[in-house]
Amino acid sequence: MGKPHILIAGGGIGGMAAALALLRKGFDVDIYEQAEQFREVGAGIQISPNGNRALHALGVFETLQALSTKAEGKEIRLWNTGQTWKLFDLGKEAIDRYGFPYLTVFRPDLLQVLADAVAKLKPDALHLNTHVVGCTQTGGKVTLAFDNGGTATGDALIGADGVHSKIRNILHGESKARFTGMMAWRGVIPMEALPEHMTRRVATNWVGPGAHVVCYPLRGGKLMNFVATVERIGWQNDSWSTQGSIEECKGDFVGWHADIQTMIAKAPSLFKWALMGWPPMENWTVGNATLLGDACHSTLPFLAQGAVMALEDAVILGRAFETHGSDIGETLRRYEAARIDVTRQKVLGATANTERFHNPLLATVAGAQAYVDREWSREAIIHRYEWIFTYDVNTVTV
Ligand SMILES: Cc1cc2nc3c(=O)[nH]c(=O)nc-3n(C[C@H](O)[C@H](O)[C@H](O)COP(=O)(O)OP(=O)(O)OC[C@H]3O[C@@H](n4cnc5c(N)ncnc54)[C@H](O)[C@@H]3O)c2cc1C
Repeated sequence: MGKPHILIAGGGIGGMAAALALLRKGFDVDIYEQAEQFREVGAGIQISPNGNRALHALGVFETLQALSTKAEGKEIRLWNTGQTWKLFDLGKEAIDRYGFPYLTVFRPDLLQVLADAVAKLKPDALHLNTHVVGCTQTGGKVTLAFDNGGTATGDALIGADGVHSKIRNILHGESKARFTGMMAWRGVIPMEALPEHMTRRVATNWVGPGAHVVCYPLRGGKLMNFVATVERIGWQNDSWSTQGSIEECKGDFVGWHADIQTMIAKAPSLFKWALMGWPPMENWTVGNATLLGDACHSTLPFLAQGAVMALEDAVILGRAFETHGSDIGETLRRYEAARIDVTRQKVLGATANTERFHNPLLATVAGAQAYVDREWSREAIIHRYEWIFTYDVNTVTV
């Protein structure tokens, strides 16, 4: 067999990163994306040092860094009084300690940077308006079926089609992503609309009983990202993302600090996202097909590692193909073996943060101080984050 031809279902961050990793290793790739136009949610994303190490391995770190904001630090603030606890320094300290900064990035910039790099290597790799509806395997080949009646056949398939993955259902049996009991308000606020004291280059987690708010600057400080997570008994909407109103969001944050009220009031629009998920999977690969990104390890966003995991998957997948590519089954087994435990640990870590960010002890200042001393001591932070930030996609065994 010559170099394998690899099909990718889904052209989100994970699918485009996988395409780039494989094209850079000299493999032929086609990506099938259901959207008519290439676009990302107009929101922010945090890329921790390990994610930037993966972007560097993909050759796009410098380009993305120029479009992003380097967070100087991360802090915890109490929902009502605004009392502040430093979580960690992220400027020079992140670079000294991990070799890469902690970036806050506008999601469309990340996707565009990946797409531009893919297009440079294969201009016609991305097929838009192509909804995958089926997948079959015979004689060592994988064939995708599209809703327009078309098909495509290749040597391997990567299902990077997100939390509602069709490929996952085909490979592992039909089931539905579950509502996690939480929804997120998301918006992006022009920084010029905010008072001076709110424009610092730090990523802040406002924590309170039953809810938390994450905010950080984007695009060199021109925008402020706002994500507010609240617990909900059930999701009342058919759709998993929908426009909400400023008034409704205010209703969820009655009694919260004036800075939170200001961000809600100044948001040009706010969207509501149901946070959906699956329990971690036992295995991803079936024959010559496997999964990547949210399709196999969807996560609550409370460790800010969902997209970062997809970037890491992509680099490791590229390395597995480079080393074992003449045997697709072996390649996919090696990729899965390298990634399944580490991604499971992160998914469980993100879930564990729910209780940390929403704890009832945060209701009072005294309870919060004791809780923060215990949960966010330097030792506890290092224990929870150091193994994540030091993970090196270049040296993990594949
Ligand atoms: C509120 C919130 C905040 C977050 N913050 C962070 C953060 O700070 N840092 C971080 O690392 N992660 C964060 N994440 C997680 C991150 O957004 C996801 O993990 C990441 O987008 C997963 O990328 P993906 O490519 O696997 O899936 P997706 O981004 O969902 O992409 C899947 C793609 O597949 C396409 N597709 C789906 N079905 C089909 C089909 N049948 N045929 C063809 N195409 C199809 C979709 O259109 C889409 O383009 C956050 C998530 C949320 C909800």
